[in-house]
Amino acid sequence: MSGYSVKVVEGKYNLSGEFHTIEPNQPILDEKGKLCGITNPRRIVHHHSLGGEAPFFQAITRGRLLATRCDNKNCKDGFGSIFLPYRIHCPDCLERNTEIDVTDLANKTARVYSFMVCERSGAFNTLEKPIRFVNVEFDGVATILMSYLLGKQEPKIGMKVRPIFRTKKPTYTITDLAFVPAETAEKDLPADFTFSK
Ligand SMILES: [Zn+2]
Repeated sequence: MSGYSVKVVEGKYNLSGEFHTIEPNQPILDEKGKLCGITNPRRIVHHHSLGGEAPFFQAITRGRLLATRCDNKNCKDGFGSIFLPYRIHCPDCLERNTEIDVTDLANKTARVYSFMVCERSGAFNTLEKPIRFVNVEFDGVATILMSYLLGKQEPKIGMKVRPIFRTKKPTYTITDLAFVPAETAEKDLPADFTFSK
């Protein structure tokens, strides 16, 4: 694929290089060698804005877990609620939430609320199979976080877990955050992952 880069200049994406590349077609022949179609390969580089959630994604590459909290005293149902996944706005009052660091809370109180084991995955899956998706709950947090479990143990409801972070070669996606059973030793973590920093 050709080289490309995206920089930010005066608050706007500034693109250079090739974002759409074509490759030679190939004929599709039937059993007798008769032409019946062609492949038509086209590759596209997407740029995906992380918007207001960018601080969350940057933090996980640095071994920290960010949540948000509604600090609007006039918010009848939401005041003081902590949201993880990171919600930019409170769903009750629609005010902008306050960002908070919940890494220590997650290290101490994370546990499996529920889980789902997937033997098959969709296109471009980069996770090891079977994928052990876990719904993780934390003390005092109003929401449940979807993530995945690494390590040898099978997930169990109520199992104590700890967040781990792909700080060595981050992908800047949600897969940079995973969980392991709480008693896992740092030396047994998967490649490129660390505990919180
Ligand atoms: Zn609110």
